[in-house]
Amino acid sequence: MRDPQGRANEEELTSVEAHLSDILRTVRPLVPTELSLSDAHGLVLAEDVTASVPLPSFDNSSMDGYAVRVADVAAASEQTPVTLPVVAEVAAGDTGAYALPPLATIRIMTGAMLPHGTEAVVPVEWTDGGTTRVSIYGRAEFGHALRLAGDDAKAGEVLVSAGTRLRPMHIAVIAATGRATVRVRPRPRVVVLSTGSELAEPGTPIVPGRIWDSNSFMIAAAAREAGCLAYRQSIVPDNPDEVLPAIEDQLGRADLMITTGGVSMGGEYDVVKAALRQLGTVGFRKVAMQPGMPQGFGTVALPPSATSEGRARRSLIGRLAERGEIPERAVGSAGGDQVPLFTLPGNPVSAYVSFQIFVRPAIGALQAYGGLGLEATRAELTGPLRSPPGRRSFLRGVLDRGRGRIAPLTGQGSHQVATLGKANALIIVPEWVVQMAEGETADVLVLP
Ligand code: AMP
Ligand code: MG
Repeated sequence: MRDPQGRANEEELTSVEAHLSDILRTVRPLVPTELSLSDAHGLVLAEDVTASVPLPSFDNSSMDGYAVRVADVAAASEQTPVTLPVVAEVAAGDTGAYALPPLATIRIMTGAMLPHGTEAVVPVEWTDGGTTRVSIYGRAEFGHALRLAGDDAKAGEVLVSAGTRLRPMHIAVIAATGRATVRVRPRPRVVVLSTGSELAEPGTPIVPGRIWDSNSFMIAAAAREAGCLAYRQSIVPDNPDEVLPAIEDQLGRADLMITTGGVSMGGEYDVVKAALRQLGTVGFRKVAMQPGMPQGFGTVALPPSATSEGRARRSLIGRLAERGEIPERAVGSAGGDQVPLFTLPGNPVSAYVSFQIFVRPAIGALQAYGGLGLEATRAELTGPLRSPPGRRSFLRGVLDRGRGRIAPLTGQGSHQVATLGKANALIIVPEWVVQMAEGETADVLVLP
């Protein structure tokens, strides 16, 4: 609603923080599952992974060289090499038990188990590389080139903590502990649905009055970038009778649903709002931001008529939760049969910004992961900018991280997708600021 001066009535607006916290209160983490380590990259760990054995689990050599007793090579130098017999050879993977006699060496490879009695390994580079006898040109300190059992990790030590998003180094650590499978939150399944009778599939011809659907491709890609499996559904026209069935049809395969369009203030054409209002579980509000003011969020239950496997599985989880057999926090998505649903505004820039500010953290919550917010930084503005009072602006800009500067782009309209394509960051202008000058320092969100 507008006051007589034509300005947005601030009373009616919900803050960005309040909207986000309502969302995060509703979204429940998905039930963890045991997955093969090969499938776990990028997922969030749902258990602490501990070392089952010390790492390394046996004393071994860190270099190719010769196992020696320190006293036997104490006199070795460039000018006065010490020559010793080579009595055996032990390679990586050799499980035999070797013992090092006094005044002798055993040739040893990197990663090979130390012969009993080894005090140091003389690197092959300090020797003539002999195979029956070896001349050694330098003395080795006690412990030189040895890797002792447990020097990397003690048995029982927590190596990767629950809540970690698994990156390649974590996968290596888990494999090194001997685990073939690991307990993780499943990859969230996100279904994206565009609404609007003006929309056409890219690749098909259009006539004036129509536009190609860009939102569903963009949001599906953004969801994948945030670590989800994303499915894009075909376009739903502005027909109130088609919206709810189209959403319900997808619920069985969704942990989270996103629609775009049909939620602004235009009345009968806002079919998404009209269709979902009947349910009473999705709230619509104006958020004090630009772009992205009209936001809808809530949950949608699978309809009683749905017979998909998804429903069966979800119902089972719901029943188990009701009976207290699994903790409420462990119930998937919004709990029981409920799937969280975002209705994002239709303008592509609004949809994009809304996704990054609200949906990304919700995707994190599905995985019990708090680290999905955009990276925040600060940078010096290379040009002035304006912002409406009482609204937090997210303006597209080009961030030069090296110089710590950001250039606001011209063309900040919510429909101006071409400008979005040039941006790599969003400039945040607080609610109480209406303009900023060149040279001022602004808060910036780095776009993923
Ligand atoms: P709405 O929120 O449905 O009122 O749409 C607001 C504006 O966004 C209109 O100009 C729509 O044509 C445009 N729009 C809606 N959906 C899409 C879409 N999927 N791709 C591109 N533009 C869209
Ligand atoms: Mg529309």
